[in-house]
Amino acid sequence: MMPRLIPEQDEVMGILKRTGAYREGHFVYPSGQHTPHYFQMPLAFRYYDTARVLAVALSRKLRLEKDVSSALPKISIISPSPGGIPVAFAVREALSADQIYWAEREDGQRMFRQYVNAGEVNPAVIVDDISRTGEALKETATLVREMGTRVIGCGVIVRFNSSPDRIEIPDGDPIPVLSLANFDAKWYDTADACAECKKGAAEEHVRF
Ligand SMILES: [Zn+2]
Repeated sequence: MMPRLIPEQDEVMGILKRTGAYREGHFVYPSGQHTPHYFQMPLAFRYYDTARVLAVALSRKLRLEKDVSSALPKISIISPSPGGIPVAFAVREALSADQIYWAEREDGQRMFRQYVNAGEVNPAVIVDDISRTGEALKETATLVREMGTRVIGCGVIVRFNSSPDRIEIPDGDPIPVLSLANFDAKWYDTADACAECKKGAAEEHVRF
């Protein structure tokens, strides 16, 4: 089955809901924050069909960027963290991109998981499943530039509206953060401020 060109945001949220990657309810984080929604994006990528629809859609958006399409297939797909690896592999497949890498945060610093020499990494497209603050994308862009590689594109499945829609590059044009869905996240710092607590909704404690 050929997925539709680029699904609308509602359709994307429908997929996330159906697969359990997006849930509504009353969630409490270890930080003590309360929220009425919970994303666990790998749940949408556990199924071949939904992973493919999402990855093909994101790759189509990326292809519309001239910097990306003109560099294919000699590009690298880079995930900021292990969480983005399923997205990175699926997008790499859809774009027939040459390379894939992923980073990890270790001792407060983001670094490549693989040993790589400067100059080995193709012009980079950074992809992730979800961007909540934009920090991971920004740190990864910095890491890529330190390797002497250009960032030519960036895309995520879901971008919180609180997360910037572009990555600033010190000596170049900002890179737009493409997304399949934008989401208005709600957070309450305390139970007292939480609308779900006021309704008396049962709490579910989540790990992250
Ligand atoms: Zn609450």
